[in-house]
Amino acid sequence: MTETAEKQSVILKGIIGSPGACLARAYVFRKRIEVKRVEIAPDQVDAELERYNAAVRMTATDIQNLRRKAEERHGEKYAAIFDSHLLMLEDPQFGPKLVARLKKELVNVESIVRDTVDQLHKAFSAIEDPYLRERAIDIKDVGGRLLRHLMGLQGPAAEIGDEPYVLVAQEVTPSEMLDFAKGGLQGICLDTGGATSHVAILAGALGIPSVFGLSNFSLVARTGDQILLDTRRECRLVHNPDADEIARFNASVENTGSEKVLSDTTADGWRLHIAANIVRSEELPLLEPLKIKRIGLFRSEFIFMESVDLPSEKFQTEVYTRVVEAAPEMAVLRTIDIGSDKPLRYVPLAHEENPAMGFRSVRFSLARPDIFEPQLRAMIRAAQHGNCRIIFPMVSVPAELAALDELYRRIVDEVKPAKVPEWGIMLEVPSAVFMLADIARYTRYISLGTNDLLQFFFAVDRTNEKLAGLADMMSLPFLRLMGQCVAEAQKHGIRVGICGEMASDPLGFITLLGLGVDEFSMRPAALKNIMALIPQLNRVQVRGIVQSMLMNPPDDHDCRAFLQANFPL
Ligand code: PEP
Ligand code: MG
Repeated sequence: MTETAEKQSVILKGIIGSPGACLARAYVFRKRIEVKRVEIAPDQVDAELERYNAAVRMTATDIQNLRRKAEERHGEKYAAIFDSHLLMLEDPQFGPKLVARLKKELVNVESIVRDTVDQLHKAFSAIEDPYLRERAIDIKDVGGRLLRHLMGLQGPAAEIGDEPYVLVAQEVTPSEMLDFAKGGLQGICLDTGGATSHVAILAGALGIPSVFGLSNFSLVARTGDQILLDTRRECRLVHNPDADEIARFNASVENTGSEKVLSDTTADGWRLHIAANIVRSEELPLLEPLKIKRIGLFRSEFIFMESVDLPSEKFQTEVYTRVVEAAPEMAVLRTIDIGSDKPLRYVPLAHEENPAMGFRSVRFSLARPDIFEPQLRAMIRAAQHGNCRIIFPMVSVPAELAALDELYRRIVDEVKPAKVPEWGIMLEVPSAVFMLADIARYTRYISLGTNDLLQFFFAVDRTNEKLAGLADMMSLPFLRLMGQCVAEAQKHGIRVGICGEMASDPLGFITLLGLGVDEFSMRPAALKNIMALIPQLNRVQVRGIVQSMLMNPPDDHDCRAFLQANFPL
């Protein structure tokens, strides 16, 4: 009998972040490595020093490997960042000071490393000079690596071998997720987070199941425990499943072959524009079997988050060109939505109390022409290889429209392209719903970013699992907002697309179709489901039902139940 078979099987409840199914071992990731202070005898000092030196050597090898990879991808200039990490390991404020403390205090070496890293981090974070303050991130990074080596926590590969694994953690940032995605990651279980958080979107992009809002699961689970995660229909998370549970799961995975008719044309012959949201060009091959020739949202910030420093204009042009060429009907490239839960490790931002409503997105881009202008040049150049639109995220006041227009004209003047790609905006802040006349002065295209629109409309943080039930995209107030927005946009001759998660949800999709939207972009994992639904829908009938529902809402205001009753899915 295996060790896990002896453990109690426990079923947990959570919020589905992305659909899929997997059965694999847990890798429990602890962000801040807590260390116990343990006294040692004087004759143990040498052994502690030996452990420390071995950990330093392994950390140095890690950093050299990272340096080599950075050089291959970005060139020597960027690789040099890792030289400063190597230098830190040799810094007299670090190694020698630490060894002296070890000899004096007679405690385990990891507790001294923890303490030294915390002290240095605090000192550097308080420095005014932005360059030096940035070094605080390096200290945390190198210190974390060193501690992991000292404590045998070198990451999934070292802890559970090359086996596939399910990541279990309290929380992870999108950029940490990108690091995990390089290994055998099969699924994600987080104590925190919401269904439309960027980690959920990224998990969907990677085609793996994820579940959030698991309270303190990461404290209970141990690396190596078995995890069964099935979020295809409802959320089924089983910690240490028993043999029956595993057999049922295996049978359900084998029986998923029933093929449905997939189409982009409704039963009454209305062809819709169906597109995919992607975050990395590596997802492009997934679209071929579905014959999808449109990308409705390329979240360009992930190129920036995966890089060790600002990606060059040339590198960006290559990536955007790959996206444009893979989507011959239309590729919509979004300029970076940096800030909030998507910071860049190499661009330190001041602390903010409310970063989701803070210095992010187009606010950040307009303030950083050194980053924004090369991105626009790269996008405009890439656009020459096909059909492309450029969209700006989080426009919230009319003055931004004027600033974007002015900048765009200047960049077009500089690049002198044969074709000038159209630009539009993402409508994801409620104020923009009341700015459609202003918007129409500059552009005739908006893309509904319902993930942010929902969080700002209800003032419900999309990453907070405790509030998950509050912001319902199918609730009457939100549907009224959508109805008003689409009608007002159409009145001003503005075309409306949707790239928020509402397009991936069958009832959300039906509602938008009923409101007159015909451009839908969704996460790749949702495409099959929605394309199986489209040929069953009659657009004229959907319009009638949705419009009358908004005019005469059901008595209990339960639009979800109303639509479910009208469209048995
Ligand atoms: C949105 O807000 O709906 C959207 C598509 O953008 P993101 O999810 O990247 O914030
Ligand atoms: Mg958004």
